[in-house]
Order: sequence, then structure tokens, then C-alpha cells
Amino acid sequence: MEISFAGYRAMVTGAGKGIGRATTLALAHCGAKVVAVTRSQADLNSLLLECPSITSLCVDLADWEATEAALQHIGSIDLLVNSAACTSLQPFLEVTPEQFDKLFNVNVKAALHVSQIVAHGMIARGSGGSIVNVSSQASQCALRDHTIYCATKAALDMLTKMMALELGPHKIRVNSVNPTVVMTEMGRLAWSEPEKASAMTSRIPLGHFAEVEDVVNTILFLLSDKSKMTNGVTLPVDGGFLAC
Ligand code: NDP
Repeated sequence: MEISFAGYRAMVTGAGKGIGRATTLALAHCGAKVVAVTRSQADLNSLLLECPSITSLCVDLADWEATEAALQHIGSIDLLVNSAACTSLQPFLEVTPEQFDKLFNVNVKAALHVSQIVAHGMIARGSGGSIVNVSSQASQCALRDHTIYCATKAALDMLTKMMALELGPHKIRVNSVNPTVVMTEMGRLAWSEPEKASAMTSRIPLGHFAEVEDVVNTILFLLSDKSKMTNGVTLPVDGGFLAC
């Protein structure tokens, strides 16, 4: 299936590493002009070396005012991927308010804020658009030591549905991808221990974790017109984990 994004402008958050970075490069490869947003300048520098056509934006998305200022002259965006997120692991009884605020600020509030800014522009231009939130299997299945992370992703799934409901009439589709474990920096943090990894893979009918490319391909499909009647779905990329 060939997908071309020639003539489109896209924005990807969390573009410095992992799934966000690979999505940025894939979108550029498919002809889109891409704005890459993350908080580490070194990651943006290496991304630009790899793909000079990318526009980079360095901002901490947990900071509402800084995000507002950074994105005010962003120009028209047709495609948005909210991939930025962070995690922290602790038993439920040890969750702190600081960890709670940190994760909700990035994983939920920033996705809402960036989407609001981009959707305002899409509505003003009347051109519509497509937004993909990167959620997780953790939104629908409790995972030990992932209390706040699971809660943020559950919130993100409902945010996706609300956005689909209210932005749909403006020709803006909103969907999420919900991957199983992917061995990015974030994935390695939680799943590097062999016993933990094998306990998880044994619950995945296909018997292995997802590759970054599996997630990126699904994101590209949801961004593209190939999915033009798909709106408000939370699409597992999980080898069947959530089906069992
Ligand atoms: P990575 O940790 O590899 O990359 C996350 C990116 O987001 C980094 O570039 C990071 O920048 C950026 N980021 C984090 N916080 C902020 C912030 N406050 N402001 C701006 N940028 C920020 O994660 P993945 O690629 O693995 O994850 C991408 C998405 O996929 C996330 O939404 C994650 O929840 C989801 N996901 C991941 C899975 C996995 O197993 N890896 C499984 C299911 C879902 P920096 O490094 O500078 O902090």
C-alpha cells in the first residue's frame, strides 16, 4: 500500500527518540513537510543531520505557557502525531503526587493542548486533518507498577474519543494507536529484565514484542486517506494481547 503525504504539513511530538522519531522520518520519506517537536536539542540536531528538510522545535511540552509560545507561529498543520510521553514505575502504594502530575502533564495535558492549537488552525482553514495519539495497551490492561502510566493512557483513549466526537464535524479525524511493548528507551526501562519480558511475551498470541516499524505503519495508515472513514478508534498494535 503506497501512501503519499506530498503537499501535507505534519507535526510530531516526542520526535527526538523512539516511535516519534521514526514517525517523523517516515512522514518526511512519504513527502510531508514535518515539524519535529521534542525537549532535547541534541536529538533535534541529530534528526536534522539525518533529514535536513525537517523543521525542529525544542520545547518542554509539560510547560503550558512555553508550548503556547513555541507553537504560536507554527503555520498550517494537516497531520498531527502526539507521541511524547514519559513513564515512571512504582507500586500503587508508593505513587507520589509529583510523579502523578509529571506523567499527566505530558501524557495527557500536553496532547490535549497541542491538539487544541493545531485543531484551531485546521478549523480556521476549513481544510480538516488527521490526528493520531500514541496510547498503549496499558490503557486497557493493568500492568504491575504502571499505575500512573496506565491511568494516563486510559485518559488519553477517552480524549481521543472526545476529540473524534467534537472535531469530526470539522473534517478532523482523531484516532489512537495502542501498541504493546516496543524496545525503545521507554520500553527498555520497564521490560529489559528477561523474566518480566518473557512473562509479557507469553501473554501476546504472536509471541513477541512490536517493532517500531509496526507502530509507525499503523500511524501512517491512520493519518492517511486510506482510513478516511475511521474516527475515534483506539487501535491495538499488540499481537493480540488485548484480545485475550
Ligand atoms: P521514548 O522514551 O523512546 O521517546 C519519547 C520521546 O518523547 C523522547 O524524544 C522524549 O524526549 C519526548 N518527550 C518526553 N517528555 C517530553 C516533554 N515534556 N516535552 C517534549 N518532549 C518530551 O518513548 P517511545 O518512543 O517508546 O514512546 C513513544 C510513545 O509510545 C509514548 O506515547 C509511549 O507512551 C508510547 N508507547 C510506548 C511503548 C513502548 O513499549 N516503548 C508501548 C506502548 C506505547 P526526552 O528523551 O528528551 O525526554
